[in-house]
Amino acid sequence: EQIPLITIDGPSGAGKGTVARIVAEQLGWNLLDSGAIYRVLAVATNHHNIDIDSEEALIPLASHLDVEFEIQPKGEARVLLEGEDVTNVIRTEEIGAIASKVAAFPRVREALLRRQRAFKQMPGLLADGRDMGTVVFPDAPVKVFLTASPEERAKRRMLQLQEKGIDVNIGRLLADIKQRDERDQNRSVAPLLPAEGALLVDSTDLSITQVVEKILAFANEKL
Ligand code: C5P
Repeated sequence: EQIPLITIDGPSGAGKGTVARIVAEQLGWNLLDSGAIYRVLAVATNHHNIDIDSEEALIPLASHLDVEFEIQPKGEARVLLEGEDVTNVIRTEEIGAIASKVAAFPRVREALLRRQRAFKQMPGLLADGRDMGTVVFPDAPVKVFLTASPEERAKRRMLQLQEKGIDVNIGRLLADIKQRDERDQNRSVAPLLPAEGALLVDSTDLSITQVVEKILAFANEKL
């Protein structure tokens, strides 16, 4: 039997995380936050003193990564690395930057493929990331590419961090976002690009509810 699947790809700060969680909740589906896996890998390099510039050293770490997502009745899932709660640690800008570096290695990505595909289970999967529709689930019947202007994304990221009591500089955030976009778009494997047939949604001037509605309407047409 076909397992229903929606992929949402796009740059960081476009609202993928929030939108993906709401859509998954509304449909009662499983959720794959693939960025969290790359972030957990980044934390694991710290824990195990692995050189983040060495693809050779990263491959075994990625293949054996002991990561678990504990679904919560409300809000974000708890993320465990080797049983340790890293839910908040993985969200820092520093870890995001390391994640984007290790994610540029082809064989590191390959080592994480099977783990990501294992999320495809009944009653359905909402997968969010950079290459969900292009590489990990190329056969997905519903694909979405969600973007927003870099300025808007920096603003959203700032509010998000401020809510967590983290003080940030908007100029620095914008520079970081542009640098990360550049790296994600120009890497040789699985560069950040819309999948063929993807619905393009620019969320710059849309509310979360409006984005969710667009995606659900598109999914209804396709599924
Ligand atoms: O989405 P998030 O900001 O959590 O992802 C962190 C980093 O992990 C991204 O900047 C990107 O380099 C990488 N990533 C990826 N492929 C994915 C998801 C995330 O390369 N499917």
